[in-house]
Amino acid sequence: MSFDALNLSPALHKAIIACGYQQPTPVQAQAVPAVLAGHDVLASAQTGTGKTAAFMLPALHLLSNFKNGPKGAPRVLVVTPTRELAAQITDAARTYGKFLRVRSTVILGGCSYVPQFRDLSRPIDLVIGTPGRLIDHLQRGSLDLSCLEMLILDEADRMLDMGFKQDMEAIIAAAPSQRQSLMFTATLDASSEALARKILKNPVQIKINARTLTHDSIGQKLHIADNLNHKVRILQHLANQESVSRAIIFSATKRGADRLAQELVSEGHRAEALHGDMNQAARNKAVRNLRQGRTRLLVATDVAARGLDVHGISHVINFDLPQVSEDYVHRIGRTGRAGASGTAISLVSEGPDVARLIQIQRYLGKELPREEIPGLEPTRVLRLQVKPKPAKRPHGSVDKSRPWKNKPKHSRQGGEVEVVQRKRRSARKP
Ligand code: AMP
Repeated sequence: MSFDALNLSPALHKAIIACGYQQPTPVQAQAVPAVLAGHDVLASAQTGTGKTAAFMLPALHLLSNFKNGPKGAPRVLVVTPTRELAAQITDAARTYGKFLRVRSTVILGGCSYVPQFRDLSRPIDLVIGTPGRLIDHLQRGSLDLSCLEMLILDEADRMLDMGFKQDMEAIIAAAPSQRQSLMFTATLDASSEALARKILKNPVQIKINARTLTHDSIGQKLHIADNLNHKVRILQHLANQESVSRAIIFSATKRGADRLAQELVSEGHRAEALHGDMNQAARNKAVRNLRQGRTRLLVATDVAARGLDVHGISHVINFDLPQVSEDYVHRIGRTGRAGASGTAISLVSEGPDVARLIQIQRYLGKELPREEIPGLEPTRVLRLQVKPKPAKRPHGSVDKSRPWKNKPKHSRQGGEVEVVQRKRRSARKP
């Protein structure tokens, strides 16, 4: 399908050509016609699929046709979980809308109220914001949603995870019931489905499965480490590689991110941390520094890096594996963007990494290749495979050497057996 077939306004078409996009991504090819036809949309698609343009292009198309309302109150509202994501959506709106006369503003927590009051008191077409500050403006009366024609919830599942359910409901309640609603979510679980049922009317459903994202251009590999110190040495080795021109390193915790960034800085690298405990100015600066090449290594937590769209990331390094398998796909999608190639390296040691790796490999439906770095080889073998089953005993007999084996068990695969058994054995210790 070509962009011509989407029948977007000539001004949008010109902007798309200026972006160098050749054809719509699958989520765009499905969502844009549905939105332009006036349908509500429920799309499960994650960052990296082109989802921002999937809602922003039709929203801008409709805005370009809208007449100014009596009060100039916003007609399109995009609600998104993180400030970084809101800033990126705002950039996208400016890029795609540069040949249109659409007035937009971004309303973020952690930023000064003064320009926000000023922008919201003027006629405005499009507001992009995070839930907390939007609610704040609703309560102060500075945000008027009575003219809203389109409500877009971006990364709705993440907003639910972050505890924004009530805020989202309050925003929805403040919008007219005769509106078009679009909900984008990375995963469609019970709670996001319940939210969808509440806000969407006969939605067109679009499912772009993370698992089906091929990430063909991303080389993935594992380095096995004996322990935390070994992981740090592997990371230092990787940081010294010239091929690692710009990398995001994922840490499970905020403190871990700070510690790793400090260690890398003390080794002479241009490194910085990015996590939710940093104030907004520091977070913006860290992302800007990475974008502009002043920082080479950004050590981030998942929430802070969610949706981060920085071009030219050569490597994603999972210092800690994510707890949720789908986040692995989101993380590695930070590299290999827009046709460029990239490398995703995961460091795995004993402990929680093992169970996470088993789950990730099962989710991906493939084993990630292991690679050893000369001089940094692991000294122990990390086993993820199931041991061959012992020969069948006659029905009803009891294996006294392995009492835990006599309990009824569920069918398990790939290494979970070993992990579970180890836990049971240690549980027997006094
Ligand atoms: P998103 O999933 O919205 O975060 O988009 C991921 C990246 O894909 C962004 O850098 C977009 O600029 C880019 N992108 C979006 N649509 C297209 C397209 N049709 N062709 C090529 N790149 C695209």
